[in-house]
Amino acid sequence: MIAMASDSQTDANRADDHRDDESAAAACVFCRVVSGADPAHVVFSDDVAVAFLDRVPLFHGHTLIVPRAHVDTLSDLPASLVGPFFLRVQRLADVVEEALDAKGTFVAMNNRVSQSVPYLHTHVVPRRPKDGLRGFFWPRTRYDTDEQAAGVAQRLAAAWAASGQRDGLPGLNPSGE
Ligand SMILES: [Zn+2]
Repeated sequence: MIAMASDSQTDANRADDHRDDESAAAACVFCRVVSGADPAHVVFSDDVAVAFLDRVPLFHGHTLIVPRAHVDTLSDLPASLVGPFFLRVQRLADVVEEALDAKGTFVAMNNRVSQSVPYLHTHVVPRRPKDGLRGFFWPRTRYDTDEQAAGVAQRLAAAWAASGQRDGLPGLNPSGE
């Protein structure tokens, strides 16, 4: 790590230092919630994950669930935690829907872009028909041609195949090849 003259609070240092360091729990807002240093309306908490209400919800009951140990993005979540974490996401989505008499949920995660806090968090939002959330995220576009779409799919399929080898996943056949 690069030595900083007097400023130990730079982002770079925080990212390196605070994961296994209780004293640095003050470094980020979700670490403070997880450690209990900051108040939050906690929905559940265990050794894998913590779920709490978003402070500025899309709708009442909008909940965030984070792994107990700080990781920045989905890519950083250790493989051993992927299953346990998403089991809790799944359970939380059921709970939010049932407990709040919703008709469904919106489950989403921003990674880097639009990620307000650089600590992996999954949004679980209760949904109801005509709740006004329709279309709130993305103006839809189209592919100019089917060939353009096929080219994009091919790039993704090749990257998927390469990453499967990297991660020890079974080699999957890109569709249509
Ligand atoms: Zn943190």
